[in-house]
Amino acid sequence: MKLQTADVPSPLPHRQFASDNYAGITPEAWQALARANSGHAPAYGDDAWTTVATDLVRQMFETDCEVFFTFNGTAANSLALASMCRPYHAVICHQSAHIQTDECGAPEFFSGGAKLILVDGRNGKVDIAEFEQACARRAGDVHFSQARVLSVTQATELGTVYSSNELAALSAVARRYQLKVHMDGARFANAVAALNVAPKDITWKTGVDVLSLGGTKLGMPVGDLVVFFDKNLALDFAHRRKQSGQLASKMRFLAAPWVGMLQGEAWLKHVRHANDLAKELSIVLSQIDGLQLLAPTEVNGVFIKMPKGVIQKLRDRGWIFYTFVGDDGVRLMCSWDTTREDVESLIMDVRQCMALTETN
Ligand SMILES: *Cc1c(COP(=O)(O)O)cnc(C)c1O
Repeated sequence: MKLQTADVPSPLPHRQFASDNYAGITPEAWQALARANSGHAPAYGDDAWTTVATDLVRQMFETDCEVFFTFNGTAANSLALASMCRPYHAVICHQSAHIQTDECGAPEFFSGGAKLILVDGRNGKVDIAEFEQACARRAGDVHFSQARVLSVTQATELGTVYSSNELAALSAVARRYQLKVHMDGARFANAVAALNVAPKDITWKTGVDVLSLGGTKLGMPVGDLVVFFDKNLALDFAHRRKQSGQLASKMRFLAAPWVGMLQGEAWLKHVRHANDLAKELSIVLSQIDGLQLLAPTEVNGVFIKMPKGVIQKLRDRGWIFYTFVGDDGVRLMCSWDTTREDVESLIMDVRQCMALTETN
């Protein structure tokens, strides 16, 4: 079909489980954006929306912290890490970390050469013994990049969460080796809802120095934050952000969706919804013979092994999803706007495709 320039492109025929960034913008974020779109306001963050959003973030974490808006998570992560280490330092992270697998070398680039040191661990979480070994390995060796930062992803790339105890234990090791702690919180809100804790309990209270706080996957159009609990690390951040092209001139439009989502804790309602539906999907799918969960479903993503024939049949039926955990590991993400009917319709197709594959 040829799209005429006068046509408005249509959305996909139905909602998908490919990624939470396939979803649109939540009503709360959208309304705040519309309200911000009135009259003139100072540029580059000197506007009232940015001030209010920043205050709401401080209230959310119940502490004074430095808050910066960037356009996306890759920028938030790589600029955060760049401000935590020098070019001859190293960042220790899980081998499946987004900073390692999905950022095209941005952390190395923006830090001017910092090395990522990979460790393993079950369910996408950094194993503490491996982490400690990596801290100690070649410490002081002039020929090797010196470990300076631990970066953990909360929730992880396998849809699991670190408990506050696990985080505290990792931070204690980090402190012992003089490492700072960074958290990639692209789905931080989902983790807060899953753990039923206060945001402070899994950040500054358990040793996190800098947090990349995701807004996009939560249901905003654009705009992820860097939150510095260790304010010393934020010293040159304003220049770092500007130099990398991440300083929005019409900042109010990055800030307003945050105001809409943080006021009245709309964010919690939306992530609980997405987490709950993922749990339902996970329970039903894991009971089907021949399907096997790759990790417990703790937030809004189901990671499950499926026969390759079934994966193909689901794709033939129009389902879009990623299979980046091996070639038979399917990732199914729920979003703020996923409905129970969407979940049921996917389950029905999985059942039918399984039955068809068995008889062939
Ligand atoms: C989506 C995501 C990011 C940010 O990705 P961008 O596409 O740059 O916004 C960062 N970390 C994790 C774990 C993610 O899932």
